[in-house]
Amino acid sequence: MSNATLKELSLKLATGACSSVELTHEYLNKINRLNNDLGCFITVDGERSLAQAQAADAQRSAGRAGPLTGIPLAHKDIFCTQGWLTTCGSRMLANFVAPYDAHVVERCSAAGMVTLGKTNMDEFAMGSSNETSYFGPVRNPWHRETVPGGSSGGSAAAVAARLAPAATGTDTGGSIRQPAALTGICGLKPTYGVVSRYGMIAFASSLDQAGPMARTAEDLGLLLNVMAGFDARDSTSLDRPTEDYLRDLPRSVAGLRIGLPQEFLAAGLAPDVQRAVDAAVAEYRKLGATVVDISLPNMGLSVPVYYVLAPAEASSNLSRFDGVRYGHRAAEYTDLLDMYKRTRAEGFGAEVKRRILIGTYVLSHGYYDAYYIRAQKLRRLIAQDFAAAFQKCDVIMGPTSPTTAFRLGEKSADPVQMYLSDIYTIAVNLAGLPGMSIPCGFDGGGLPVGLQIIGNYFDEARMLNVAHQYQLATDWHLKMPPGIE
Ligand code: GLN
Repeated sequence: MSNATLKELSLKLATGACSSVELTHEYLNKINRLNNDLGCFITVDGERSLAQAQAADAQRSAGRAGPLTGIPLAHKDIFCTQGWLTTCGSRMLANFVAPYDAHVVERCSAAGMVTLGKTNMDEFAMGSSNETSYFGPVRNPWHRETVPGGSSGGSAAAVAARLAPAATGTDTGGSIRQPAALTGICGLKPTYGVVSRYGMIAFASSLDQAGPMARTAEDLGLLLNVMAGFDARDSTSLDRPTEDYLRDLPRSVAGLRIGLPQEFLAAGLAPDVQRAVDAAVAEYRKLGATVVDISLPNMGLSVPVYYVLAPAEASSNLSRFDGVRYGHRAAEYTDLLDMYKRTRAEGFGAEVKRRILIGTYVLSHGYYDAYYIRAQKLRRLIAQDFAAAFQKCDVIMGPTSPTTAFRLGEKSADPVQMYLSDIYTIAVNLAGLPGMSIPCGFDGGGLPVGLQIIGNYFDEARMLNVAHQYQLATDWHLKMPPGIE
């Protein structure tokens, strides 16, 4: 049963083939068996999960069940969950029990979904391999010596290993799409502002966006229907009419114009990844789509622009972790200033400190114009490139990540190499566009490759349609990691 999709589980629950309590037990047992090896979850609390499952079963008996009532899911440990530990992968929050639920968690619970636990992640979502977590790395279920990607590595690996049918993630520069690609699952980063950031621990507020991770495009749509929607508590939440993101699934893709940016064929793109992406585009042609060559001339600037803007915002957001109100506080100190210093020295890991240093530097009086303001201007140019491209095409396609999963430790000593893992995803966040990754093949070593689909603003329904039609014609999304059942 743990290999079922959300859609299939919904049917089983509706027909009474199983109860939410049974389902939850099954996932908890699997987590119990495999989590030691894989490190997907930071917190599991079976009693709490089962109490939620009981409540969901009662709701169903009372005739008040929705499509996802009683289905378990895992939440990235960046979302505040009332009564559960919310660590954000950091020693700084290793003892933090959130007093309230994030908007996303609230919405999932209101839909009757059961929280299976909190998933491992790079510390404060800074990383592309899950290796910066204070709680240790996550292993990729396809090959235990490789990384699952990051920062939503625990969510991705949990879904790939069938420890959860779906999970939440967040994506500031690629953290939903890149781990989805490296673990052979699907992930969607919505248009900025579609999902509320309330209760989601802030990394770079102008880029952060939450989204669903699951095994099919249809499941992503089911979850997005629950997660999306206006929330007055997030000042950048968009007040738009409610949408059914599944409405376009059955549409044919005949006549779809796919834009292929020449810049996506950059040096560093692994030949196996390119082959799989080319084959996916060929499949779309068979389905009646046409291909248009496009250019995103400023794409090459996206990584440097991101590594000015994201650290600038992070340095400001992380100033709240001072040992006074919540989280870690140094045990010994001489005065207030010493308390701040020791608390932050002990509580943050190396990558987080690196970002705070960069961010503080680019925002400093003498360098603000040279770095921060310049990066903001380039950000605008990158967004304009996409606007011009979408005059010629309906969606943009390319690789999600330049390589498949790399070995644990392979890039951890070289931050720039690690930063380049997101070379194809970051521009999408800078422009605020929606982007997704779906499985489209394997490399020579049997590791999954992800196809990235980028849409215009608010085109999530069309992107899900495009992905769903591909999944009707191919079976990459059905493949299981070896030894997982
Ligand atoms: N890997 C990128 C970073 O470290 C993106 C992370 C994310 O999307 N949260 O900043």
